[in-house]
Amino acid sequence: MRGVYGVEAGVHRGELHNTHTPNHKDRVSVVILLADGARPDTLDAALNSGALPALARLRAEGGLHTVASCFPSVTGPAYAPFLMGRFPGPIGLPGLRWFDRDRARCRFPDYSRSYVGYQMRAVDGDIDGRAPTIFELCGRSLGALNVIGRGLPVRDRIGSITVRSALRGAVTHFTGNVAGWIQIDRDVARDVARRIRDDRPELVFAAFTGVDKVSHAKGQNSPMILDALRIVDDAAAEIRADAERAGRWDEMSLWVVSDHGHSRVMAHENLAGIVARAGHRTMAHPWVYTVAADVAIMVSGNAMAHLYLDVRSYARPSAVHDARWRALADMLLSRESVDLLIARDGERTVVRTAGRGDAAVWHDQRGYHYRRESGDPLGLGRDVCGASADAAYDAMCATDYPDGLVQIAHIAASPRAGEIILSAARDWDFRSKYEPIPHVSSHGALHREHMLVPLLVNRPVATRPRRTVDVMPSALVALGKAVPPGLDGVSFVRD
Ligand SMILES: [Zn+2]
Repeated sequence: MRGVYGVEAGVHRGELHNTHTPNHKDRVSVVILLADGARPDTLDAALNSGALPALARLRAEGGLHTVASCFPSVTGPAYAPFLMGRFPGPIGLPGLRWFDRDRARCRFPDYSRSYVGYQMRAVDGDIDGRAPTIFELCGRSLGALNVIGRGLPVRDRIGSITVRSALRGAVTHFTGNVAGWIQIDRDVARDVARRIRDDRPELVFAAFTGVDKVSHAKGQNSPMILDALRIVDDAAAEIRADAERAGRWDEMSLWVVSDHGHSRVMAHENLAGIVARAGHRTMAHPWVYTVAADVAIMVSGNAMAHLYLDVRSYARPSAVHDARWRALADMLLSRESVDLLIARDGERTVVRTAGRGDAAVWHDQRGYHYRRESGDPLGLGRDVCGASADAAYDAMCATDYPDGLVQIAHIAASPRAGEIILSAARDWDFRSKYEPIPHVSSHGALHREHMLVPLLVNRPVATRPRRTVDVMPSALVALGKAVPPGLDGVSFVRD
């Protein structure tokens, strides 16, 4: 029997080996609640308003930090940092939609992927098999709406597997029924709290999508955002109360995070339409079966996009040197909707803007580099030469593109990335049609409102958290487990 009240309270680390009472290992746990799409300022304001008492208590006891997500700042890819400790592009998730130029993973005839819909199930097979997920490194785990599930038994996944919620999810997704999404969050919160109470999983990753759905449909200033955040607050309160009763709270790390921000959209660019008007045969979701297309347009979020050029070929053309594609890049840069245009040029990457000139970005053994050429598109005010990941982060921290240097270097080097990568200008996104939910707000881009996310922790951190990739190694350290090599993040919990 476990959970004899009062007994474990006085037990110190590793002293108890009696199988009838919980030992240390049995009580140490990490619970990560993800409020999908919540901006740091939104959470901060809600905490200050007094509407989220359980989360406010966590902030008082631990702390609220602002960290950088990844590019693209979009659900799916942006879960990889939490669950794999790595940036998504290099491990095979360059976006919510992507084109498989190698024809190795996606099927004939379109060779494209969209995680919006049934292909969501392909994520686990798409990610690099050599990169472990946190579920593969932990014992008993529990996931809810976790997107990446490799290593997590189906019985330990909430939300994605029951017919009832899948059906309801599909219906509400396609009708844009925001109240329906909030109700799904309530169901998930109830199931997660119950499963933690009953099964005592070592690791929990539970996503709540209400904030993102409300934001897309009504904006992140909508009063309904508070309804969505209250569900996370209620979940945290219940999980804590249960853990205190069971003597598990002292060894529980309870963290609340988000995967991306949000900002308003005033105008939608029909990106596929303008590329077609420039004389190219295009393929873009939902119309990916274009015969003999030459440009594939794969939008995420909807404020970022990959453009794959000359898609009938296995070879990647250059959007920097090839005149035909250079002309397409110039046309795109002339659009008000495009903020940054990122194009691979051999080992280096060119970052172009319409008004602030171009610069080169690359990563080598010496570190991260930024060299201004015709201007300073990222607004650093100087060049960066061989900076470490931390130094590159700190250099970019106050600019409009937090962690932009590291993020651009990684996405551009991703085998599945497009030859042209776009980050949208403020107030714009890249899809004007076919969205089930109205998009008055979007995300996906590299600018601050999309890239910065909150990290709320119930205990003070040992070192300053910088990125969402720091969460996975921190969880492993908190659980007393070895951190595998090759991660992009570092632990903010002391070993
Ligand atoms: Zn979203």
